[in-house]
Amino acid sequence: MQKIALFAGSFDPFTKGHESIVLKALQIFDSIVIGIGTNTSKKYLFPIEKRVQHIEGIFKGNDKVSVVVYEGLTVNYCSEHNIHHLIRGLRNTQDFEYETSIAHVNNSLTHIETVFLLTELKYSALNSSIVREIYKSKGSIDSFVTHSELLV
Ligand code: ADP
Repeated sequence: MQKIALFAGSFDPFTKGHESIVLKALQIFDSIVIGIGTNTSKKYLFPIEKRVQHIEGIFKGNDKVSVVVYEGLTVNYCSEHNIHHLIRGLRNTQDFEYETSIAHVNNSLTHIETVFLLTELKYSALNSSIVREIYKSKGSIDSFVTHSELLV
């Protein structure tokens, strides 16, 4: 049986930190589905089509990685698509505290297991909101985002 995991997030935008988590997860799972969760009440900087195009471009040629867009609860997406594992990236103890409570709730809803992967030290201070601020101020985000040209 193929082991598939969902790596969910808003990925606004998808950073090198996210990318490193996907690469680590591929050492454990046969394939990774990157799920861009959309929430109609939330405002995003990068349009959804750009975020999809960007992530697909990063993993072009790697048939073990796919990108999907979904609405609603992540666990519902998993149940509907027969996915039993979620991947989450951890940068620090705050991430750990936040993520463990979500993982417990998700597990009690659907028995889905969350696998935590520790970020690489060099990406431990990297988050999408910092990248958005740099981008909005017309700074270069190339050090933090692979193929940033695909977001434009
Ligand atoms: P959300 O908006 O749901 O927090 P994000 O797109 O910010 O989604 O992040 C999705 C996942 O990626 C989360 O598990 C988050 O902890 C992880 N993540 C974010 N930034 C990094 C990073 N620099 N290194 C490793 N994991 C990260």
